[in-house]
Amino acid sequence: MLPALTGTSPAALATWLRDAGQPSFRGSQILDWVWKKKAGSFDAMTNLPAALRAMLTASFRLSPLAHSHTQGAADTTRKFLFRLHDGRYVESVLIPANPALYGETADRHTLCVSSQVGCAYGCKFCASGLAGFARNLDAGEIAGQVLAAERLSGERVDNLVFMGMGEPLANLDNLLAAIALITGPATLQLGARHLTISTAGLVPQIRRLAEHPQQIRLAISLHGASDEVRDKIMPVNRKWPLAELLDALDHWNTLKKQKLTLEYILIAGINDSHEQATALARHARRLHAKVNLIPYNTVDGLEWQRPGESQCRAFLQTLEHAGVTATLRFEKGHDIDAACGQLRLKQETADGTLG
Ligand code: SF4
Repeated sequence: MLPALTGTSPAALATWLRDAGQPSFRGSQILDWVWKKKAGSFDAMTNLPAALRAMLTASFRLSPLAHSHTQGAADTTRKFLFRLHDGRYVESVLIPANPALYGETADRHTLCVSSQVGCAYGCKFCASGLAGFARNLDAGEIAGQVLAAERLSGERVDNLVFMGMGEPLANLDNLLAAIALITGPATLQLGARHLTISTAGLVPQIRRLAEHPQQIRLAISLHGASDEVRDKIMPVNRKWPLAELLDALDHWNTLKKQKLTLEYILIAGINDSHEQATALARHARRLHAKVNLIPYNTVDGLEWQRPGESQCRAFLQTLEHAGVTATLRFEKGHDIDAACGQLRLKQETADGTLG
């Protein structure tokens, strides 16, 4: 399998050019075609000599993602499904005018990116967890989603959230390589502070990421404010219980400037009680974190339910009365199966790739 240019760092490309006996200035021309002009083929790179284009064609794939289909229209949430070289599928969701959830300038386009095919963490409410884990995405497959979404939509992606399929911190080396491509001056040039990584709570990796020099934002998929509730719905909590997670986040706060976000999917009868709201408020205050409340999106094959609107609002009020900054977000993607992993699950089931 040829390597993808979207996963090739500028340094690796420079080495390849040198070994191929090509002048170094070709590197910036190629990177410009890939990342800025978003060329759809090597033949489109018209300022490169034909011989070099032939060498590139023999040595690289341009993109590791083949567009399968798009759900949603231009002014709504759009979900892109991509086929990978091994017949697996991965998805990205483009969300327009997202209110300031992940950054001060967040009211343009936010792309939700996947980091793995499936997920090994098995959260009980999640479609990705249902299908189990297939494999990690490589750096080109992660960074390539941004490029492909920009090419397909004609929009500039302003914010990235690693909240699609998979647990990003379980694939940290590839994720950091992708982030270097996404934020690099010769590649996509997106500011690190416009990137948010979401994790279910992998404590050692949170500590490692805290040491990373870029000011990337962190969101915690908390979904339960006590061990009792988290143990029930998120198996990861048995490995790293709440006390350890909160300690790691205290450590994060000593090294990072950006506010933490606590994501909390409200599930009827599971984690939507007043006691849970009070405990969540305590954690949020300790961490100086803001809270995003997301009423649950029903997933085919799972029994969980969304609480009624008044229950959701009462939960929000408890947080606000405790002085916590919180938002209650009724998912924009609800009508197009934007619950994590859902479109891909349907496609792979149809193709018979699963199981
Ligand atoms: S919520 Fe996240 S960590 Fe949990 S199973 Fe789904 S993708 Fe994995």
